[in-house]
Amino acid sequence: MSGPLAGRIALVTGASRGIGAAVAVELARLGARCVLLARTQGGLEETDDAIRAIGGEATLLPFDLARDGEKLDMLGPSIVERFGRLDILVHAAGVLGRLTPVAHIMPKDWTECVAVNLTAAWRLIRTCDPPLRASDAGRAVFVTTGRVARPRAYWGAYGATKAGMEHLVQTWAQEVRTTPLRVNLLDPGAVATAMRAAAYPGEDPATLPAPADVAPRIAALCLPEETRQGETVRLYDSA
Ligand code: NAP
Repeated sequence: MSGPLAGRIALVTGASRGIGAAVAVELARLGARCVLLARTQGGLEETDDAIRAIGGEATLLPFDLARDGEKLDMLGPSIVERFGRLDILVHAAGVLGRLTPVAHIMPKDWTECVAVNLTAAWRLIRTCDPPLRASDAGRAVFVTTGRVARPRAYWGAYGATKAGMEHLVQTWAQEVRTTPLRVNLLDPGAVATAMRAAAYPGEDPATLPAPADVAPRIAALCLPEETRQGETVRLYDSA
């Protein structure tokens, strides 16, 4: 495909639905070849269909970020083996956990939030750092949340694990600042997805931006001309 990302290889987590799926389609529209990671095969196939419909190409990677840690460690080396490098990483996979008082968080819910929102981010950085450095314009974007800056009752496990992710990502951004690799975070604000509906069941999703509305802003951080480093881009007025 032609476009500003033609010939670029992109790994997108959370690509089976919601924001991750929309970002994958947008990156493909800009010319990137996408590797789509999530657990749900059917959702990955739907994203693949959308990418094929616009003439793009994708590889599906059904994968559980909470349970396949050692497999995740092999992802970077297998991307190098197949493509020689990685140009773009968008980490959109995330879990909300159960909204409940901190004192009532159950071990199972805590463990899942830590595994997906924090540990998987660390393992992704660890395995994708070498192939991203092998690119002449490596770009990494991690999707975060306003809950980090504005804690709210019952959102403790989600907010704490996203805060940990932000810290790791900002640290990594400083460590690679003298390389061509650009690492940033993006807070999309409220977006009409399954996660948002779980958190706010009474809300009319038609009143919110759709994943396709925010995807171009995430894709823009993946362009070779991007210069920001270690920033958290917020897509809403936080005042
Ligand atoms: P979503 O529709 O629930 O999508 C979450 C994605 O994460 C799905 O593709 C899901 O795929 C994947 N995922 C979850 N657990 C996984 C696991 N163990 N292994 C692999 N993949 C896993 O939510 P979304 O709203 O699009 O969220 C995308 C990102 O935006 C998240 O990081 C979220 O924290 C952030 N965010 C969303 C909002 C909002 O209003 N929607 C606001 C701020 C930040 P499978 O279930 O197929 O595995």
